[in-house]
Amino acid sequence: MALATRSSFRTLKAIRGAHSFCKHATSSGSSSDRVSSLWDEHRLTADQLHFRALATDFAKKELLPNGAQWDCDKYFPVEVLRKAAGLGFGGMFCAEDVGGSRLNRVDGAVIFEALAYGDVIFVAFPMFLSICSLIFSNSVVCRYGNDQQRNHWLPKLIQMEFFSSYCLTEPSSGSDAASLQTTARQAHGSSDYILNGSKAFISGGSVSDLYLVMARTGALGPKGISCFLLEKGMPGLSFGRPEDKLGWRSQPTTSVVMEEVRVPSANMLGREGQGFAIAMAGLDGGRINIASCSCGGAQFCLDTAQEYASTRKQFGKAITEFQSTQFKLADMQTALHASRLMVSNAAAALDAGSPKASACAAMAKRFATDACFNIANDALQLHGGYGYLKDYPVERYLRDLRVHTILEGTNEIMRVVLFRHMLQQP
Ligand SMILES: Cc1cc2nc3c(=O)[nH]c(=O)nc-3n(C[C@H](O)[C@H](O)[C@H](O)COP(=O)(O)OP(=O)(O)OC[C@H]3O[C@@H](n4cnc5c(N)ncnc54)[C@H](O)[C@@H]3O)c2cc1C
Repeated sequence: MALATRSSFRTLKAIRGAHSFCKHATSSGSSSDRVSSLWDEHRLTADQLHFRALATDFAKKELLPNGAQWDCDKYFPVEVLRKAAGLGFGGMFCAEDVGGSRLNRVDGAVIFEALAYGDVIFVAFPMFLSICSLIFSNSVVCRYGNDQQRNHWLPKLIQMEFFSSYCLTEPSSGSDAASLQTTARQAHGSSDYILNGSKAFISGGSVSDLYLVMARTGALGPKGISCFLLEKGMPGLSFGRPEDKLGWRSQPTTSVVMEEVRVPSANMLGREGQGFAIAMAGLDGGRINIASCSCGGAQFCLDTAQEYASTRKQFGKAITEFQSTQFKLADMQTALHASRLMVSNAAAALDAGSPKASACAAMAKRFATDACFNIANDALQLHGGYGYLKDYPVERYLRDLRVHTILEGTNEIMRVVLFRHMLQQP
């Protein structure tokens, strides 16, 4: 099937429909602009080239011109998120009957990377959180939600009419998430549950409409945890002040406090005791998503640094004429390429249902988020003092990329996950 021009597609779903019989792209369909180097062309299918083109157009028009101002104003760009949802970026991995685009994880990685090039945090919220946290939540609801929950919540989440938050971390349980202390007890003479406790660092806290809360309904440990859907406005549900963060400033992060919140049993997701499994179910995909966002941000930093270094003159010549600068840029490119290969391999492992998918996702997340933060740091260094100024975008990308080594399980916990897997190998 011949490739259509990219402008003829306005949504992810339309692209999927047009190319569903087409396996790999030939040479056309590639972008001639700077972001064309985001992925190796030969590894992408025709669909993926078009997904990337759509995401790149969106990033150029909506994100690149606005990211700095959103960061400065700590502005949460709801209207732009909804525009993204209109293109299909709100429900990429969800089924079509609820408005999703039913893409696979490799497709998603291509899209996240292209969007993150324009603004890391925008992607982190809608694509990783509002979707991924939203996608995360969405796919969780797809997998565990009953029909009533699925049909009620998913179409609105996918259109980003509603936003959702994933609430696992607590003030005293971060990496050791299974030790959480929020309780859910059965109300006397009723099937309702009463929730008490607090959650920390919740992305979208106070702006989200729906909160997926992990709470203890049984014994200590992971098997005593259940998952509840709490709706904004429920009596007893409140939020802390927005955290003042190094990066991710346009995305509100707050604590979520529950004081005798009465929740109908119909709002339990999955079965009692299944909450920790639900919380973990989305993590492999979330780790791949965040690693893809790191690649997009790092590509922006690398391109910007190369451009700056080729025009900045010291000692009578452009600083790219110094071999140490050339070696630095070459090493940055190599680290980015390696990151991208690990991300795409982990995404393919997850799509294939490989028993190694969790280990691959942990390795990709650990490697790519560290490597991409280092690329941003090197890019800042190549800018000299100017890199430290807000007049140049590199410092913002560096601040936004920093948290990727902490989120979705810290990079130390990624090593724990990987080593556990290594112990299980024959
Ligand atoms: C901006 C932001 C947004 C977030 N959004 C959300 C959200 O939406 N929902 C949510 O539930 N959470 C969210 N989090 C929380 C995040 O997932 C946690 O911060 C993270 O899991 C680490 O937990 P902690 O901060 O309590 O650190 P701790 O667990 O206290 O870790 C402190 C240090 O000890 C290390 N450490 C801990 N255990 C081990 C071990 N066994 N071996 C070696 N080293 C170890 C860690 O790697 C880290 O370096 C967010 C955090 C941030 C900063």
